[in-house]
Amino acid sequence: MTSPVQRAREARPVVRPLLLRWFDRSKRDLPWRKSNAPYGVWVSEVMLQQTQVERVVRYWTKFLERFPTVKSLAAAELKDVLGLWTGLGYYSRARNLHLASKELVLRFGGELPDSVDALLTLPGFGRYTAGAVASIAFELEAPLVDGNVARVLSRLLELDGVPGEKTREAALWAAAEVMVEGARPGDWNQALMELGATVCVPQNPLCLVCPVRTSCRALAAGRVDELPRPKKPPKRKRLEFAVAVARRGQEVLLARREEKGLFGGLWELPGVELAAGADGDAALQKFLGKKASIGPELTVVERTLTHRDLVLRLHAISLPKRLAKPPAGYLEWRWVPRAEIGALGMSSAMQGALAEAG
Ligand code: SF4
Repeated sequence: MTSPVQRAREARPVVRPLLLRWFDRSKRDLPWRKSNAPYGVWVSEVMLQQTQVERVVRYWTKFLERFPTVKSLAAAELKDVLGLWTGLGYYSRARNLHLASKELVLRFGGELPDSVDALLTLPGFGRYTAGAVASIAFELEAPLVDGNVARVLSRLLELDGVPGEKTREAALWAAAEVMVEGARPGDWNQALMELGATVCVPQNPLCLVCPVRTSCRALAAGRVDELPRPKKPPKRKRLEFAVAVARRGQEVLLARREEKGLFGGLWELPGVELAAGADGDAALQKFLGKKASIGPELTVVERTLTHRDLVLRLHAISLPKRLAKPPAGYLEWRWVPRAEIGALGMSSAMQGALAEAG
């Protein structure tokens, strides 16, 4: 049985030219590929994590228009960055992007450094993002492994193991490191990801038109349908909140969360987490204080997040006109005219809750 590194060494001389030639012919026309400028590549790679390319194109273009440089992003207020991120999800990505831009200004003169080690010191940079920026923007032989690359390498080199297991992850990174060596490392990494996104897809891969089919070990062994093995399902957590819907004419009461944790820094209808079986009315009364009048439950909104089931119990609330200081967990709260809500950073789950609250 040959090791993953040996298999990668054997495959590299044949597979690299085939895949790069295919990439030159078939690559999708994406705006950040026009220049490979480090800042644009970085923003695109952060947005592409967990999000489909078609959506990212729209957000990336708007983001670069509004914040065209690291320095302009660093000078922006977080709420404006989150506002532009609304609808993309995984808001910690936007918070880290903003934090990292400030560090880049402080430590690197507003430029991205051209070394994996230096990139890894920045907020939000893991091995994947550092490898992507280093290889695509700076042409360094830096490996990367994301879901697409993991699937392609698992099949191409017939690497077994359950996704998430340490030995499998180590084998994938070791193989990726061997295979990125050579000319055009940035294009090589993008070609692997492109193959995984368009040809070597999870279900029914298009092996007949695959540019590397003659070297594919899983195809030769008849194991394409087995590899990669299915992931262990994540443990899901149920999160339940009692949420206040307070109105004043055409205005709605919204609050901005502290800048940490789930939905950190985002605007929302203010709410309090409920322990299992807890009474929403009582929890809201304690949360908002004696002057609040807690009305009946209006509706229940349920949303499925990646690892959580979110349940929002919406209650009609009356509050005095003058607001006291915001409740625990929030930085600020205010009455917001309905027409202005779209400009605030808000999660899709909360946008859905607002729509259902009417
Ligand atoms: S031959 Fe099929 S399984 Fe192998 S890399 Fe190509 S698309 Fe994937």
